[in-house]
Amino acid sequence: MSKNIVMVGAGVANVNAATKLVDNNFEGTITIIDMGKDPYVRPYEEVMTGFLGAGGWSDGKLTYHTAIGGQLSKYCGEDKAMELMDQVITNFKRFHPKPEEVQCSDPQLEPDFIKPYFGLRLFPVWHVGTDYLHEIGKNWYDYLVSKGVKFVWETKVTDIDFDNQMVMCGEFGDKYDELIFGVGKSGIDFGKKLAEKYDLPTEPKSVQIGVRFEAPQHHFQKLIDISYDFKLYRKFEDKGVSLRSFCTNNNAAYVAVEETYGDHSYNGHARKDEAYRNNMTNFGILMEIKNIEDPFEWSRNVVNKLQNNNTGLYYSPSREPSTTSEGINVEASTINWLDLVKVINAFEGYFEYIVDFIDDMKKVFPTLKDDWGIYIPEVKYLSPEPLVDYTNLALTKYPNVHFVGDALSARGISVSGAHGIFVAEDLLKS
Ligand SMILES: Cc1cc2nc3c(=O)[nH]c(=O)nc-3n(C[C@H](O)[C@H](O)[C@H](O)COP(=O)(O)OP(=O)(O)OC[C@H]3O[C@@H](n4cnc5c(N)ncnc54)[C@H](O)[C@@H]3O)c2cc1C
Repeated sequence: MSKNIVMVGAGVANVNAATKLVDNNFEGTITIIDMGKDPYVRPYEEVMTGFLGAGGWSDGKLTYHTAIGGQLSKYCGEDKAMELMDQVITNFKRFHPKPEEVQCSDPQLEPDFIKPYFGLRLFPVWHVGTDYLHEIGKNWYDYLVSKGVKFVWETKVTDIDFDNQMVMCGEFGDKYDELIFGVGKSGIDFGKKLAEKYDLPTEPKSVQIGVRFEAPQHHFQKLIDISYDFKLYRKFEDKGVSLRSFCTNNNAAYVAVEETYGDHSYNGHARKDEAYRNNMTNFGILMEIKNIEDPFEWSRNVVNKLQNNNTGLYYSPSREPSTTSEGINVEASTINWLDLVKVINAFEGYFEYIVDFIDDMKKVFPTLKDDWGIYIPEVKYLSPEPLVDYTNLALTKYPNVHFVGDALSARGISVSGAHGIFVAEDLLKS
């Protein structure tokens, strides 16, 4: 019997799933519904929606390691995970107008000067680049259309009836035999709503919280020369806490305010244009804390306690907050060392890990001294991860509904794409 597969979201995960299916002469129908636009008309400001989803308008850094980008090897084991990520990277090169221009950075050795204070995660990263991603998107889209995949654009899926196998877009419904749910971060609330409505069992999650650290770049140049987006890490297994530097931005590096659930937290981004060069470096110092009973509520409470005058906090022993790339001050209430007591209390004993991390960076990067500042807090609210059958990422309660990509447990392009291919391989078997 030929199957009718409906995919919600035309992001990285589902585009890779559809590609795997059509490459293997899948005989059923494939319909992909997305609230965004096709790659020919998708405008620059629509960062999260449309063909290839958030991945299509991203920096295009394809990481190649199972410890980066969310969970994959948990489901399929290390070897299979690497093989799936290989397939994703091959797909990006396959539709690239100049595949020879995809560069791979692959640092091999942890430098001695960071030891014994930190470990450095070493892994290959393929750099595609935003501009090429747009061209890849068009080539990839044309291929899928030529193979009979039906796309429904600018259509928001508003509900899914798992019992009657119907995808609802307002009053219109579409019947499915198999559903692949890949709504990414832009669909985080939708996924949560469905999990509550169907009382889906979920996996326990950890807290991800910390600060955004900022300093002049020259203090870190020695490490940046080895690994541009360096990932320093340390673990306290017995305490259930690990820390890592996260999302490093250099050269033209700016701190950005994020607003979630009405509170402010911080993140960072880098501009490519030389006109924006400020010779700064910023990165998150993020703690992963296990064993907190309700990680989501706990994180929201901590973030809420760290607000002042409707924004987050800035502390530095010597510096002023920086400006955004538009030249205005990063919104933050500057606090002095006495006010740090409030921060320490809000973090309920975990802030000392961040203080130690910074103290040890001062040992490893001796020019750093007091020439740094922190924006408080940085937080990653991880979406509740529904419990799935590890062999095909199908909901334990609804075996023909598969969750993939950021809607499941991914946090990056290669892992999201790999989820999609993993599900497609299972569908091809059946
Ligand atoms: C600015 C930015 C830069 C990034 N840079 C990188 C990077 O360099 N490297 C990396 O590995 N990762 C990066 N990421 C993360 C990466 O883009 C995501 O992890 C990846 O795209 C997730 O894939 P996905 O298929 O799960 O979801 P997405 O790619 O986000 O796609 C989800 C799709 O679902 C659609 N959708 C959502 N809800 C609905 C609904 N109700 N109805 C219909 N359609 C819906 C959306 O329109 C979207 O197109 C970046 C993310 C952002 C935002």
